[in-house]
Amino acid sequence: MIVVGGGHAGVEAALAAARMGKTAALVTMDARKLALMSCNPAIGGIGKSQLVKEVDALGGVMGEAIDATGIQFRRLNLSRGAAVWSTRAQADRIAYNQYVVDFVAAEPKVTVIEALAGAITHENDRATGILTESGESIGARAVVIATGTFLGGLIHIGEKKIKAGRMGDKAAYKMSDCLSELGFEVGRLKTGTPPRLDGDTIDWSRCEIQPGETPTPVFSYRSSVRSFDQTPCHLTRTSPRTKEIISANFEKSPIFSGQINSTGPRYCPSIEDKFFRFADKAEHQIFLEPEGKGTSEIYPNGFSTALPESVQEEAIRSVIGLEKARITQPGYAVEYDYCPAHQVDISLQTRCLKGLYFAGQINGTSGYEEAAAQGLMAGVNACLGIEGEEPFVLGRSEAYIGVMIDDLTTRSTTEPYRMFTSRAEYRLALREDNARDRLFGHSQRLGLICEADYSGFEKLRKDTEEEIHLLRKTRVPVSELGEYAERFRKFDKVSLSKLLKQPGVGIDEVLPVLAKYDGLFSDNQQVLRRAAIFIRYQGYIDKQEREIAKSQKLEKEVIPGDFSYQSIAGLRTEAREKFERFRPASLGQAGRIEGITPGDVAVLSVSLKRYKSGVK
Ligand SMILES: Cc1cc2nc3c(=O)[nH]c(=O)nc-3n(C[C@H](O)[C@H](O)[C@H](O)COP(=O)(O)OP(=O)(O)OC[C@H]3O[C@@H](n4cnc5c(N)ncnc54)[C@H](O)[C@@H]3O)c2cc1C
Repeated sequence: MIVVGGGHAGVEAALAAARMGKTAALVTMDARKLALMSCNPAIGGIGKSQLVKEVDALGGVMGEAIDATGIQFRRLNLSRGAAVWSTRAQADRIAYNQYVVDFVAAEPKVTVIEALAGAITHENDRATGILTESGESIGARAVVIATGTFLGGLIHIGEKKIKAGRMGDKAAYKMSDCLSELGFEVGRLKTGTPPRLDGDTIDWSRCEIQPGETPTPVFSYRSSVRSFDQTPCHLTRTSPRTKEIISANFEKSPIFSGQINSTGPRYCPSIEDKFFRFADKAEHQIFLEPEGKGTSEIYPNGFSTALPESVQEEAIRSVIGLEKARITQPGYAVEYDYCPAHQVDISLQTRCLKGLYFAGQINGTSGYEEAAAQGLMAGVNACLGIEGEEPFVLGRSEAYIGVMIDDLTTRSTTEPYRMFTSRAEYRLALREDNARDRLFGHSQRLGLICEADYSGFEKLRKDTEEEIHLLRKTRVPVSELGEYAERFRKFDKVSLSKLLKQPGVGIDEVLPVLAKYDGLFSDNQQVLRRAAIFIRYQGYIDKQEREIAKSQKLEKEVIPGDFSYQSIAGLRTEAREKFERFRPASLGQAGRIEGITPGDVAVLSVSLKRYKSGVK
């Protein structure tokens, strides 16, 4: 198998293939830059950490790489329900990249080839390999394209334009031309990044410190908790002067001058966009995030810009605490080509060429975690495709990965797609804490994890079940409940599970009560926490499971790949066109296509039944 692109998607694709026993050539521009973070030096965050934990449960490297090299860890959303708790880590950008380089080097089934892939070779409708820009031909039984922001990459800083996929790297123009020649619809998106600052020139006393959390949270089930001196982040604000400077220079930004026409991520606007769109807002928050332990470089999160360098400098120096800050690298915007994702099926295989898979930014997503998750899925499916086996598809009720791929293939995003918890309708069931419960069975079946990991987890699962049982059946005298006794004053005794369902009560509050029953309850914190979350959410989870069971009916109504929509009587023209474009895999998926009505699905359902029963 060949994987083109050693970013977050490409690395996971090649490593997944290796875990499944295949050999993979990872063809990438610069072998030293595997999984390099192009922008924000951070992994995780709301909605994204769920993806990292899923990648981890499927044997991926992202979780353990950030656990080993992160410099500050925090959990977010703790005041809300466990369903949306998320973990975020500030990364040491270079240490993370080096960890992945070493990890890949230690995998004998992956060979890194430093080259620029220029074309995909094929015979009839099947991909057969790639051609490098220097003319070398490499054959393979499956090809994964994970080229990130590099296809037709064009950097903008004021009026300046530079052909590059990221500052300091080449762009990939030939591969982009090849995709068009193969008949792919190619669109254009943009993203941007802030200037980097020399931390030694920042007045930290004027900024608010944001320390890390102890004990240090972890992403990977394979990592143990690290105890180390975490590096703090800081928070500051723009000043009224910043607004004046940026507003006076709107027309110098390529985003407003007409130089850039492509769409960028709505949730991650540039600073000029923020002052333009939210004109009544006097100031904006800026997070000052360290790029690593061994560097003084700082990433001012929230200050992405493509303004000319002289304006960037003036504007940065108007931010509180940055009055003397020195810019080490200017901010910029980058435009790049992508292939709208209706051109891949739910296994991420392209409809145009068999054995060709797309993963990451090329499918219109944005973000390291989104890319890693797709890379892993594309790698697994490329292996299964080689063996002629059914693809590995995760449902929307099973994983955020399933939500993302379903969204991409039913909506074909026209602006960069990133994960949010709100995208997952079954988010109560898709928590950070239960990624292994949801995915380990698949991982074991596919050979993505080792047997010892699986059996270790089975034990944890059984212990959790026993603990839940014990917490339900153990009734304690209300008089032992301290400050919570008041809530149960009408009772003599109360079950521990009832106590755990009370607002503001979690396992930490119940631990002193358990301590009184020497040896009865598990001394494994992980078991206790898992049991407490399960008990607390059981009612909601049961309700959601009933909804999932209902929705599964439509998901199970599979639409064959060769099903023709042309002859369906009574189907609206718009629905016919949408079904032809997206070619849904099931009735459930058909119903989620933008603009499709329940009536369209009903018409399709009747026609599908007739087709399956052989009636013309
Ligand atoms: C300036 C900038 C700002 C960004 N801002 C954000 C942000 O604010 N938030 C966010 O979530 N994401 C942001 N991103 C996006 C984030 O970097 C990507 O989503 C993520 O890195 C995508 O991962 P990937 O694996 O798809 O591709 P990448 O990480 O881009 O990796 C692609 C890899 O493919 C290689 N490659 C490309 N073409 C070829 C070829 N033809 N032959 C050989 N090798 C090739 C490249 O060298 C690179 O190693 C930004 C990216 C950039 C460049």
